[in-house]
Amino acid sequence: MSDKVFSVAIDGPAGAGKSTIAKSVSKKLGVIYVDTGAMYRAMALYLIREGVDMEDAAAISAKCKSADISIRFEDGVQQVILNGENVSGLIRTEQVSNMASRSSVNPDVRVKLVELQQKLASETSVVMDGRDIGTVVLPKAEVKIYLTAGSAVRAKRRYDELAAKGEKADLAQIEADIIERDRRDMTREISPLRQAEDAVLVDTSDMTVEEVEERLLAIVKDKVE
Ligand code: C5P
Repeated sequence: MSDKVFSVAIDGPAGAGKSTIAKSVSKKLGVIYVDTGAMYRAMALYLIREGVDMEDAAAISAKCKSADISIRFEDGVQQVILNGENVSGLIRTEQVSNMASRSSVNPDVRVKLVELQQKLASETSVVMDGRDIGTVVLPKAEVKIYLTAGSAVRAKRRYDELAAKGEKADLAQIEADIIERDRRDMTREISPLRQAEDAVLVDTSDMTVEEVEERLLAIVKDKVE
């Protein structure tokens, strides 16, 4: 594998398995995994705590300036720090998911977080996942993957995840939420979710995690000497 700094950009809709795969692929490659969704989630948590009305774009623009978001790694695992507090354990709720997909349409939120993401990738090799990594954040990434799966499959995976944690969930509601988040992510004005022209499409609907991992490693190997 290359000694040079390289980037693997993985984009795709909610629940396509990006983070699971990005985590394992980054480990195999020996580079860090940057979960950009966690940054948008931390911002959403901040805005929720501040009582900001999500329909009020001016309030979001003003408030997001006082959120200091950074990441650090503990045993190779990304931790998100919000104004000095490690909020990694607080950002995986459905409330934060839905809020993140609303506040992420705001240009001031995006500019701030994209800057942080670009700085990270300029310093070290990364596997970075999100919605706009191949199109906006790292347009020159050596490897770009667009990971997707049907909404019913994605909802079922999320449902199983929650069930494994002993949490009660409603499959139809999860799928409805996923479809609504996709719609918002794909139709927003700034940096909508879309496949970069030079990204490789991988549909994981009928693939196991191991198969997806193998496929991605083969793509990386092909592009990064
Ligand atoms: O990937 P995850 O579900 O954690 O992302 C939460 C939300 O953050 C997404 O629904 C999306 O609206 C936003 N996001 C984004 N750009 C990224 C990563 C996430 O807009 N690069």
